[in-house]
Amino acid sequence: MIWGGTGLAEFGYTLTSGRVGECWGVSAHKNGCCTVRGGRYDGRRLDELWREEPALFGDHADNAEFPLLVKIIDAQDDLSIQVHPDDAYANVHENGAMGKTECWYVLKAEEGASIIIGHNAKTPEELRAMITEGRFSDLIREIPVKAGDFFQIEPGTVHAIKRGTMLFETQESSDVTYRLYDYDRLQNGVKRPLHIDKSLAVIKVPFVPMHIEPEVRNAEDAVITKYVDCRFYTVYKVEVNGAATIPLSGMFHTASIIEGEGYLDGSLVKKGDHLILSAGYGETRAVGRFTAIVTRV
Ligand code: ZN
Repeated sequence: MIWGGTGLAEFGYTLTSGRVGECWGVSAHKNGCCTVRGGRYDGRRLDELWREEPALFGDHADNAEFPLLVKIIDAQDDLSIQVHPDDAYANVHENGAMGKTECWYVLKAEEGASIIIGHNAKTPEELRAMITEGRFSDLIREIPVKAGDFFQIEPGTVHAIKRGTMLFETQESSDVTYRLYDYDRLQNGVKRPLHIDKSLAVIKVPFVPMHIEPEVRNAEDAVITKYVDCRFYTVYKVEVNGAATIPLSGMFHTASIIEGEGYLDGSLVKKGDHLILSAGYGETRAVGRFTAIVTRV
């Protein structure tokens, strides 16, 4: 990615270039499908397991495809100002693709870092005028960001991650992005395409800010924070410092270790690992000192 860097190396990943923007930690998307490492399903692709071993994932008759995508994003430079469609729009205009609702847990932010969420246009006419006249600094709503912040980005929300920020992202399994503005940058000598008409069709006007109120509870030596519970996913942070039994719902969960190391039911887990706890797993015994982001459908 033209905005990527080398920050993801701290998770123990081998980087293929000096500008790596994203790790797709749990994904069955056709643009980057994960393979299981270790255990009974070693070497199997996640998209294949989703189709062939449905019992691992519980009842998912509604979803032809694995519904979640979890990522770690390292922004060494500004990402384009963008917007995503919802499921209904993407289904019609993007060959049956899913829309994209996403959320961000901020892992790191440099001093003075900011992100873009929302816009200042009051009417669709004003939005169109500001975009066609290139008045992006008036249009966008930029806010300061620090480690530990959490944001839910609904479809139709203008947004951009800016330089100096590392995020953990949970989203619908979609790769549909409409670019409004890319700072006139060049990639291999050419500007990346913009999608002004589609952006104008999906941006919600006016922008209504969304307030996240985290719900915190303790379970023995663990602190469990629930950030968001929407139609597509529920996202928690689990901080273990000692030993704790973590209750899970009957659905499958993804768990990504973002800091530290320890054991889950006797298996070593460490920063940079991504796991799937299959449907009906029940509860897991966590021992050690680590932090995980846990997501379920
Ligand atoms: Zn996005």
